[in-house]
Amino acid sequence: MNSQQNLGIYVHIPYCKQKCNYCDFYSLADPKTALDYAQQASKTIVQAAKELPYKVDTVYFGGGTPNMMPKEGLAFIMRSIRESFAVSSCAEITCEINPGEGYPTSVEDLADLGVNRLSVGLQSAVEGELAVLGRRHTPDDVKALIHRAQAAGIHNYSVDLMWGIPHQTVTSALQSLERALSLNPTHISAYMLKIEEGTPFGKTLPPLPDEDAVCDIYETCCYALERAGYPRYEISNFAKAGYESRHNLKYWNCENTLGIGPAAHSLVDGKRFYYPRDLHGFMNGDPPIDDGTGGDFTEYAMLQLRLASGLQQQDCMQRFGHPIPRDLLVKAKPMIDHGLMTYDGNALCLTIKGNLVSNEVLAMIL
Ligand code: SF4
Repeated sequence: MNSQQNLGIYVHIPYCKQKCNYCDFYSLADPKTALDYAQQASKTIVQAAKELPYKVDTVYFGGGTPNMMPKEGLAFIMRSIRESFAVSSCAEITCEINPGEGYPTSVEDLADLGVNRLSVGLQSAVEGELAVLGRRHTPDDVKALIHRAQAAGIHNYSVDLMWGIPHQTVTSALQSLERALSLNPTHISAYMLKIEEGTPFGKTLPPLPDEDAVCDIYETCCYALERAGYPRYEISNFAKAGYESRHNLKYWNCENTLGIGPAAHSLVDGKRFYYPRDLHGFMNGDPPIDDGTGGDFTEYAMLQLRLASGLQQQDCMQRFGHPIPRDLLVKAKPMIDHGLMTYDGNALCLTIKGNLVSNEVLAMIL
């Protein structure tokens, strides 16, 4: 069975204890509808399965804060996936988890449900930086959570960091990175802080590091991660060999992914659709919104160029029946001359410097 016949399922759990100051993800503070939501998500999964005869090889619970959903809700959703789809025996089943006290579902519960990969939000190991972000945990909470995960048999876990956050310097970013590495994760995600409209940071801009400092943080940390055995495989993602996120690779490879829940997006058989950011609409059974076609050459090229492996001749031939178009390589030439891209006759890639201006580079060549 090739990857086009496989399916990744994303389940959005739209609840958080409290909004972090930078976050634009769709989530609500009141989890009292959580069990009803789990029922509706399950119903949607069962319905979707009738039209999708695919084998599920990745499941990803994201949010929001999935551990805000009681165990029985997550179990209900997991059971509906297992009963309505063929699920690969080696499926990657990831759950995002927030450290700290007061969440209804524990890491032991997640292990019990078959979760075999965690994504844990550390963001920073500097308490002052965490406070400005509005995070409610300490670095020690993350350490305790990971020890419990290991004891429960989950050894595959990713730690999230954030770069470009208020007051961050190269020194403090390296301090957070050291702390993350000391947890011996298989994977590290490190996203740049983006100021989103409508968030507390969007309303009152915090004191951000300047552009040069952010570039320094990114470059320094990329090299430090590489030296530590976590090469960059995507602009913001680093992993030990063999531990790249199989689910997220589906997005960058334009493979089939079904998103369940408000704000969840799907790409199935070249069609994109999504559920609006509206919990009540989803609970009422409103159908997803058609979002046109997906996975054409331009979109595929943009997503492949996020990967360190880049846009490859062989993949283009296989997927589109033609090599990388000549005019694209001609447009990429000045980027290569400026050290923003490389081309070795097979793969066109962004360099670390190129990643820092990836939107501009992609807009120029595609
Ligand atoms: S960053 Fe995570 S925990 Fe914070 S509000 Fe957003 S989804 Fe919730």
